[in-house]
Formats: sequence, structure tokens, C-alpha cells
Amino acid sequence: MRISLNIVRQDIMKYTAIKRHLKPYSIYSRRKTTINHAFASSIAPCDVYDEAGVRAAVEALGQDADDDLLCVYCGATAETWDHVFATVVDSEFSGAGHRLGNLLPCCKPCNSKKGNKPWEIYLDAVPMSEEDRGRRREIIQRYLATYFTREHRPAQTAEYAQLLELRDRVIDIMRDADALAERIRDKSRTGEQSPPAYPEGRADAPSGSAEA
Ligand SMILES: [Zn+2]
Repeated sequence: MRISLNIVRQDIMKYTAIKRHLKPYSIYSRRKTTINHAFASSIAPCDVYDEAGVRAAVEALGQDADDDLLCVYCGATAETWDHVFATVVDSEFSGAGHRLGNLLPCCKPCNSKKGNKPWEIYLDAVPMSEEDRGRRREIIQRYLATYFTREHRPAQTAEYAQLLELRDRVIDIMRDADALAERIRDKSRTGEQSPPAYPEGRADAPSGSAEA
């Protein structure tokens, strides 16, 4: 029985992938981007959910609001809503909010492959006929022309400066926590990192020298 290569490929892994885990877990390194992103994302304006409005938007995309939604880029079943324009760029709010006009139904592979690329550039890279591509481009362009609005970037107010200060404090706290965690971690360790050179309790083992 043949198994689709695509499915198998997603699961393959080399033994070297373990290296990612074989190092101290740093709260700061693992979460700094997440914190920056959260603070920037938190000042992005959002629309409130309005059923009629969302249904109208879905229909403006040429889709059936009573059916499962399709990815606007490739036509596969949609699994998420793509922020057409990234809300956060270089750790700052970009001016593109959590609004109906900035959200399009999308499959997960497209969402992940598109990343922060401009949607037109991404659409050009999706394999499909030029006719299909032209049709999709037109639908998205028309949708954005009707629905998308760019927000004001935050003014350099005292309030905004205070928010950035809080963000930096959270990041500093993560660094402090890492330093404390390192000391606790060292005390938590039992046994050796590598297998001992000699079985435990062997008194005649020469200390510090290796024996094959
Ligand atoms: Zn897709």
C-alpha cells in the first residue's frame, strides 16, 4: 500500500532536531517576541461581531455564508482568518487592525506560508491557472477597496510611552526569572548529564581518567 509522500514528509525528523530541546529553556528567548507581539496587537482596533455584516462580507468574497468557507488564496477549505495586512510589523502596531476588512478566510498552509508577505506577492506564488489567479486577485482587491481601512498609528503620547515601559518591564522580569530559574535548575538536577564512566559504587574507578 502506498502512503502519500506529502503526509510522510511532514512527520520526518532528523536526530539532530533534539538539539533544540537539549539546552536550558529560556523564558526570555522563547517568549520575548510573543510579548512584543501581544503589546502591539493589544492597541490594534477591532470590529465587534455583527452577524449580518460578516455574512455580507463573506458574500462580497463570492462565497456562500451558509456553507464552509474557502481559502481566498488557494480555494482549499478555510481553517482560519488571515490578517491580510500584518497587524504587527517590527514589534509595532502596523495600522492594520482586527477588522472585518483585514480578515480573510484562509487555509492553514496558506496562512503560514504567507506570513508577513504582501498578499499579492503570496498569491502570485500559489500554483494555479492564470485565469484562476486573476479572478482571485480581483475578488480580494474589490473586497479590500470596500472594507479595508488603515488605522492611525499610536501618537507619541505619555500614555503610549507608559505602555512601552510596561512592556519593557515584562521583558526585564523574564530575564530576571531566567537567572533565578538557572539557579533552581542546577539544584533540581539529579545524576550526571552524560552516562557515568563507571558503574556507581565501584571504588577502584580512577577519578578523572577515561577507560574504554
Ligand atoms: Zn490556501
